[in-house]
Amino acid sequence: KHEGRNTYRLYQADIDRKARDQLSMETALRNAVETGEGLYMAYQPLVRRDNKQLISAEALARWDHPEHGPILPGKFITLAESSGLILPLGKRVIDLVLEDMARWRGAGKKLVPIAINLSAAQFWQPDFVATIKQKLHDNDIPASLITFELTESILLNRQADGTALLQQLRELGCGIALDDFGTGYSSLSYLHNIPAHSLKIDRSFIEALDHEENNSRTIVAAISSLARELGLKVVAEGVETEQQWHLLGNYAIDFIQGYLIAKPQPQGQFAEHLSAR
Ligand code: C2E
Ligand code: CA
Ligand code: CA
Ligand code: CA
Repeated sequence: KHEGRNTYRLYQADIDRKARDQLSMETALRNAVETGEGLYMAYQPLVRRDNKQLISAEALARWDHPEHGPILPGKFITLAESSGLILPLGKRVIDLVLEDMARWRGAGKKLVPIAINLSAAQFWQPDFVATIKQKLHDNDIPASLITFELTESILLNRQADGTALLQQLRELGCGIALDDFGTGYSSLSYLHNIPAHSLKIDRSFIEALDHEENNSRTIVAAISSLARELGLKVVAEGVETEQQWHLLGNYAIDFIQGYLIAKPQPQGQFAEHLSAR
């Protein structure tokens, strides 16, 4: 009995500590979002599968905590979503990307389209499309140089509204990519209604390609042929090995992204991939 109590106390102390850590992490993130300190974007190239030529890049948020150093996006994006910070963080992300693009252009580089990840709250902001239009105008960046990546789950339950919003972004000239494809709950049946330009096959399927004893090859083949029928470009995410790259040649994959080609890199390093104008 005595021991049981002690265990309980330890457990309680553990919960208290976790709650405190969580709160101080949230405070630090709030400060970062307000000041911009420690926040920057990393850019990961997307290349053609066949000749590995640079086509575009995905912008991925990075946060260096003042004491703990780099925090994984999986952690701080989730924290931002649960603490109401995702909207200001999302705004920061868009501003950082446009800033970096203006910098590259100023350095005489030829820009490629940059893909920005959207979270649900951001996408559903009533003034989202208008804000984007204004920001693009202010920074003199053509809409065709911005792609938005969103997951199917963002559209879940609000398909008609979501499709209309995507249509507006499309009419503005922005690209639309369906992210993490194949992992969501949604069915393929409404895919033809979504006005997307491309579909990104989730990394989990690509990772599994190296092992013959699963269905990943069949799934990748099915997704890519369906996408092709619907006029969507197909991106394979998380390509890490030569073998995956080689196998993907069998499945009408247009573009690839992954450590095999390049890791996400700070803007200065990424700019070296851009050709001169
Ligand atoms: P995601 O959109 O699916 O982004 C791809 C993730 O896969 C990135 O992780 C990238 O670094 C990682 N990755 C790329 N190639 C490889 C590979 O070959 N192998 C492996 N193992 N991983 C690879 P990251 O940067 O940690 O981002 C994680 C997630 O956080 C993103 O997943 C995205 O959902 C979210 N995220 C990142 N930046 C933003 C942002 O600015 N806004 C929003 N809303 N979400 C973001
Ligand atoms: Ca993404
Ligand atoms: Ca993804
Ligand atoms: Ca993901």
